[in-house]
Amino acid sequence: MPFRTIIEPFRIQSVAPLRMTTPAQRHEAVVAAGYNLFGLHALDVMIDLLTDSGTGAMSRDQWAAIQHGDESYAGSPSYDIFREAVQNLFPFKHVIPTHQGRAAEKILFTALGGKGKAVPNNTHFDTTRANIEYSGAQAVDLVIAEGRDPANLHPFKGNMDVAALDAFLSSHSGQVPVAFITITNNSGGGQPVSLENLRQTSAVCRRHGVPLFLDACRFAENAWFIREREPGQQDREVADIVREMASLADGMTMSAKKDPMGNIGGWLALNDDALAEQCRNLLILTEGFPTYGGLAGRDLEALAQGLREVVDHDYLRYRIRSTAYLGDALAKAGIPVVQPIGGHAVYLDARALLPHIAPLQYPGQALAVALYESGGVRGCEIGTVMFGRQADGSEKAATLDLVRLAIPRRTYTQSHIDYVIEVCEEVARKAKALRGYRIVAEPAQLRHFTARFAPLA
Ligand SMILES: *Cc1c(COP(=O)(O)O)cnc(C)c1O
Repeated sequence: MPFRTIIEPFRIQSVAPLRMTTPAQRHEAVVAAGYNLFGLHALDVMIDLLTDSGTGAMSRDQWAAIQHGDESYAGSPSYDIFREAVQNLFPFKHVIPTHQGRAAEKILFTALGGKGKAVPNNTHFDTTRANIEYSGAQAVDLVIAEGRDPANLHPFKGNMDVAALDAFLSSHSGQVPVAFITITNNSGGGQPVSLENLRQTSAVCRRHGVPLFLDACRFAENAWFIREREPGQQDREVADIVREMASLADGMTMSAKKDPMGNIGGWLALNDDALAEQCRNLLILTEGFPTYGGLAGRDLEALAQGLREVVDHDYLRYRIRSTAYLGDALAKAGIPVVQPIGGHAVYLDARALLPHIAPLQYPGQALAVALYESGGVRGCEIGTVMFGRQADGSEKAATLDLVRLAIPRRTYTQSHIDYVIEVCEEVARKAKALRGYRIVAEPAQLRHFTARFAPLA
């Protein structure tokens, strides 16, 4: 390729308006929301980088697939189209549709969890951890040490600490019903897991007789990183790498709101017949009949088409490059970001940018609110607001205070991202003038969604 610019590999066929607002309007909106960005009306947000979950644009062919949906209660042909698309990449014997990822987790851990059990993972996503703990079992994170250091440039910071996993399975013999590995490692900065690490993780699990499941939400982004960064993988098809990843596991849970390009959806897939039957019975209790789960036939067809599109190399090259474009520009402007840049988001290091704001005065919240007030950009605090409250009601600083800018798939153009870069630069220039916050009202659990804040004088 003689050209430097990687263009969006699509053109826009249908558009939604983006309402322009002024700093004064945004100030009014954020005060009314108690300085909590989850409390904003989405129409008051100009560039919404709160999450990449279910917020992407569907393609023309996905909308066409919606028209093809068959809404039969049982035995819908849309289920077969969905199942075949899943099995083309993940050839597990049983494919069980759910309304989103956490429903698959709830069903699996209802079947496998319970008091005295433990489930290791590189890093559990928050809903995964919550569903395991709700069953009475323990959720344990065993990511490599490099994965805990935001400045470390290791190419596969999502890797499992295989020696620690081996030791854990030895010391918890008979207590581990399943081991997990999350690709990419969302809670660890969207960092990938190497194929070699997956092979070793799989071998350790097999040696201990413990099934290995993938939390595969961003499997295609992970496979692209493998193709780009892992020796010997450069000439492979992404779909082929994905099939090898699947061959190393015994099952998977999935949020189809991520790489499958859906606005809703998920699934549970596995090989074990008896466990699949147990899960299907639980599915009928809370989600629906096994050929639709929590979804309409039309949703199943849109996801099948999304799965065909997400493994396209031009799409993935654009996806990973456009996330890095934002991260690299911020780093070049001297704004501290978690390195290397992950697949679906850029994480600003608020504690490093705002050293004058103590962790218990929420530097991540201060930065997120400033990005919104300044430019209408909505990110998500991932720090002491989200993780600081302890079970006994006390408070302590989280390991890191970050602001995540997650990029919805195929939704914003490069000029939108150039604007986001400018907004970040403007906020960084006035960093010294930013003040911390205190919480004036909060619930006992998951406070970041509904807490209300007041700025410190
Ligand atoms: C989003 C996500 C989930 C949960 O999926 P939902 O569809 O939001 O319920 C689980 N694991 C990871 C890694 C995720 O990113």
